[in-house]
Amino acid sequence: MSNREKTALPEDILLKIEKPERYLGNELNTVRKDKSKVDIRFAMAFPDVYEIGMSHLGIQILYSMFNRRGDTWCERVYSPWADLDRIMREKHIPLFALESQDPVREFDFLGITLQYELCYTNVLQLLDLSGLPLHAADRLKKNAERVPGTGMTADAEQASGEDALLGELPIVIGGGPCAYNPEPIADFFDMFYIGEGETVYDQLLDLYIECKKAGTTRKEFLLKAAGIEGIYVPMFYSPAYQKDGTLRSFGPDPQYPELPKRIRKQAVKDFSTAPYIDRPLVPYMRVTQDRVVLEIMRGCIRGCRFCQAGMIYRPNRVKNVEVLKKQAEHLLKVSGQDEITLSSLSSSDYPCLQELVTYLIDEFGKKQVNIALPSLRIDAFSLDVMSKVQDVNKSSLTFAPEAGSQRLRDVINKGLTEEDILHGAGEAFRGGWNKVKLYFMLGQPTENEEDRKDIAHLAQKIADEYYEIPKEKRNGKCMITISTSFFVPKPFTPFQWAVMYDPEDYLDFAATVSREVREMKNSRSIRYNWHEAYVTVLEGLFARGDRRVAKTIESAYRHGAIFDAWTEYWDWNKWLSAMSETGLDLAFYTKRQRAEDELLPWDFIDCGVTKKFLLDEWHRATIDGTVTPNCKENCNACGAMKYGCGICYDLVDGEKVPRKNHYREWAEKQAVVNAEKKAKFEAEKAARIAAQEAAREAARAAAEAAKAAEGEEGLS
Ligand code: SF4
Ligand code: SF4
Repeated sequence: MSNREKTALPEDILLKIEKPERYLGNELNTVRKDKSKVDIRFAMAFPDVYEIGMSHLGIQILYSMFNRRGDTWCERVYSPWADLDRIMREKHIPLFALESQDPVREFDFLGITLQYELCYTNVLQLLDLSGLPLHAADRLKKNAERVPGTGMTADAEQASGEDALLGELPIVIGGGPCAYNPEPIADFFDMFYIGEGETVYDQLLDLYIECKKAGTTRKEFLLKAAGIEGIYVPMFYSPAYQKDGTLRSFGPDPQYPELPKRIRKQAVKDFSTAPYIDRPLVPYMRVTQDRVVLEIMRGCIRGCRFCQAGMIYRPNRVKNVEVLKKQAEHLLKVSGQDEITLSSLSSSDYPCLQELVTYLIDEFGKKQVNIALPSLRIDAFSLDVMSKVQDVNKSSLTFAPEAGSQRLRDVINKGLTEEDILHGAGEAFRGGWNKVKLYFMLGQPTENEEDRKDIAHLAQKIADEYYEIPKEKRNGKCMITISTSFFVPKPFTPFQWAVMYDPEDYLDFAATVSREVREMKNSRSIRYNWHEAYVTVLEGLFARGDRRVAKTIESAYRHGAIFDAWTEYWDWNKWLSAMSETGLDLAFYTKRQRAEDELLPWDFIDCGVTKKFLLDEWHRATIDGTVTPNCKENCNACGAMKYGCGICYDLVDGEKVPRKNHYREWAEKQAVVNAEKKAKFEAEKAARIAAQEAAREAARAAAEAAKAAEGEEGLS
């Protein structure tokens, strides 16, 4: 099965489990090193199944970056799927890294990327199966190692009173978007890396080597690491709470006055020269995203008020198009892949998109390389490009209006008018598409019954655009699929103060949409589906939770909660038991609108965007309902300019000049632009209808004339 000398799992187990390839680690471009010749062994983990983790870009970037260091060997770890999890617990098989198949507990670091909150019980699974104590504090003592897989049932106390030396057990470090509120899982991690991995990791690894050589204790190393910008070591920081349960204070413990009060996010300044993937790992089995990924841009110029990525990855930075062309060529060559995808939060905003896509089509299209273009706004250019790279008959177009009414789209700052949507859909239908997917969120701030019904109305208007096309020119039946998720307020967004609802309320909201869809005249062309409401509430608890939530996560894990993002394993009852056992008041975290002066559990992180900016945006949404321009149109002084890079600066005569705030002029201009857009859309539509009517009239007249002529012939 494998050409390596050893596999961590014996053959009888490999033959018994589903998809054994998940655990063999022999993929193309896997990095192997002599472990006796490196100073650091880094296990990079994704707390979900292999197919999901292998598709994650960030891990591949860090994997290349770490392995470029001669003194470091980075390997990968994914969550064992439930079948293997069971066997590993029964037989106490320790969790292992794919490349060497060595136990994770022998490594220097266990890095866990935190992409979504629902992976938190899987984080505990990784620690537990590795034989590591779940709590960082318990890892400070000598002999803290435990029997792998016993964490769900026992909490063996075997550590000695002596301080552990650095290197006895791996340092557990977390990163990724969920690290922007690390508090609900703070107890389980030795440290968090706040920001983009390409920045201070080298400094951290150098420090580790220096400390290990000097024979320092684990705690001494953690204290030194806490002095590196962007590194947060939770065990040296403590929260204090008020009687009503809200935070009174948060900061470094009095014995560590030298530690920073705020942890500053790290961001890559020059995105064109930032480290990227050297040789992409190519799996032997089907994974969620199995293609070359070209990251064209980081951060988003838009400021949708619910969107955490749009805020925490500011400022928007683009990669030079020539660099991208070279990377595309190299990555396709060394991977042998036949598909390439552009990755960013909003690809249409990449300034050289046309040049890049034309290059990719010209250069690789003829070599049968597919080009995938997600995250596009539907405009004339995007449709043109998509028609060149997609099979129009098979593919469906995706719009994410997020709200059904214009009022609510303005509240969430979607920057999308109804005319934009209908015009885009109309153009797409005239270009041959007949399938459209629409994404919305329910339960957003200020949302009312009418906004919900407007989701169905918008779908109907889109269907009208289709049926306006003469029958003979249509591409079969039109199919519009509406998907609604439920809104989860996230830290570092203008909606971080917002209230959530009970699962039953969310289901009521979905029922309103469903009923309204059935009322629509084209209801047979509209499909509607909605997400799990109970999962949403749990996500909401984790997203804005504080340190007290950790014990509920641990209790749910001990009740057997794992793979919570997977419908087949999701079990709300386990969470209810955990909440009642730990006395957690769910409503305190989810159904409470935060006071504007409340100290929030994540306020100690400086992500660039200021709390004042977020609060102004919250007011604009909930009081004024006004739109804020995107970073290209105007600098709204969000705070991210202090990173000294990206969209925040213009090049004027070769000099970097900070962008200016022209809000008043922009707002005046925008009102005119929107009015013109609306008038143009309506005039074009009226002209199209008139032309179709005239054509129909002419056809009718011609038919009548022909009939009359036939009649005359008959008479004569
Ligand atoms: S366009 Fe809006 S939703 Fe999309 S990434 Fe940007 S800010 Fe987020
Ligand atoms: S400082 Fe201005 S240009 Fe820079 S990210 Fe913030 S709003 Fe955008």
